[in-house]
Amino acid sequence: MNDHIDVENVLAEVFSSLEQMYPTCRTNLFLSQDYSSINERVQPLAFHHQDMDLCWRAFMDGERREDGAGEFRRIAFPLAGKQGVYGVLQLDLAGEPFDDLDLRFVSTLTSGAGTAFEKARMHEQANVLIGELRLINELTQRLNSSLRLSDTIQFATSELMTIFNADFCFILQLDMQSNHFNVISSNVPELNNDVFTIDYGFCGVMLATKEPIILSDYHSATPVRSRLIESTRSRSLIASPLLLNGEVIGAIMVTHRQPNHFSYENYKLLQVLSAHIGLAVSNSSLHAEVRRMVITDNLTGLYARHYLNERIQRKQEKDASGSLIVVDIDHFKKINDTYGHQVGDAILIQVSSIIRSAIRESDIAARWGGEELAIYLPQLSLEQTLKVAGRIRSRVEEETAPKVTVSCGVSEWSSGDERISVESLFYRADMALYEAKHQGRNCVMVG
Ligand code: GH3
Ligand code: MG
Ligand code: MG
Repeated sequence: MNDHIDVENVLAEVFSSLEQMYPTCRTNLFLSQDYSSINERVQPLAFHHQDMDLCWRAFMDGERREDGAGEFRRIAFPLAGKQGVYGVLQLDLAGEPFDDLDLRFVSTLTSGAGTAFEKARMHEQANVLIGELRLINELTQRLNSSLRLSDTIQFATSELMTIFNADFCFILQLDMQSNHFNVISSNVPELNNDVFTIDYGFCGVMLATKEPIILSDYHSATPVRSRLIESTRSRSLIASPLLLNGEVIGAIMVTHRQPNHFSYENYKLLQVLSAHIGLAVSNSSLHAEVRRMVITDNLTGLYARHYLNERIQRKQEKDASGSLIVVDIDHFKKINDTYGHQVGDAILIQVSSIIRSAIRESDIAARWGGEELAIYLPQLSLEQTLKVAGRIRSRVEEETAPKVTVSCGVSEWSSGDERISVESLFYRADMALYEAKHQGRNCVMVG
């Protein structure tokens, strides 16, 4: 028996030995653990079954128990290993002679079987564990190979679908500002970007408890209503919160249309995987946030100068033309001197938001320096650019309070130019701006 590392073989060995020794006696093995055998004489140990009282006692005490006499003599031998009792071997003797020596023989057999069973189970569990560790290892390596949030969550979604053989998978992120869970990734395109309030559905439960969830059938037990489950007509669910330093930052939901699809092992594995996915999601989000901060000007919310330079350079490699407006606030020093720096800052913010609302989505507005702002307009004609600059100039004059005016310098480039560079584009806009100041300010000039 000890040669076998397969549970099924150990069990077969026990039954065949008993059959040889006691051909007329009926043997059954009841196992306490969640183990389904191909052998029909192996059954689960039912704790509330009256007929199993004897087995139940043998199991609890770990001692041999006996009942009845003659034709109805029944003996229960615990199947025990070093770490615990795994089940009970039940012999119905049907009048067969069975003396002390037999008792000792079957006791020895079951105790050997218990040890072999334990060893085989441990071997199987070790293999499962090795498989899971390998999986976690591969997953974390791939999760961390990209810092782009979209890559990370897309990979995690498809991987979870495969691992759990699931129908649907959703990754949600908790937005602290708006107090909502957002679906940031799923295999259902129309549910991506769906939004839920923080107390809604299973995410709401996980936010409150910080615990994972396993649900075998949403139809028969609906602890909370879930739009994600209902719209996908799912019935089974495993879900886990994404935690960072003990705080919920999101959630994963994995579902299937069949009830009872997920095992307890699936549930535990998702919990482990969630820890790694949570870390990867948080790293990617932080990276995106740092990147956003690096390219954004703090005061105005416009882009930073270096980002505008990079973008123009890339545009000049691909596009055929483009134009630039440099906007400078007139007599800004006086504004600061009269009203103070804080009002000066507020004016800068006002002018920036006028600029933002006056340009297209594809235009790039940046803070070029102190009170100088710049807008790059990809593939816009000079005529159109002058219109945009004129609009900004007149709106600043009308909308700012305390009132300020701006002067603008405009320049353009096209692929036919002799020398194309960011520097030359700015140089010409700067010259035009100088000219505008010279002309008395509050006007637009072309360089
Ligand atoms: P003009 O451009 O019309 O020739 O006159 P100006 O007074 O605007 O020009 P100048 O370049 O002499 O002064 C620019 C002023 O802008 C100096 C500085 O105090 C102010 N400034 C630059 N950056 C900021 C800022 O972030 N906040 C505030 N409040 N003021 C700023
Ligand atoms: Mg100025
Ligand atoms: Mg200036």
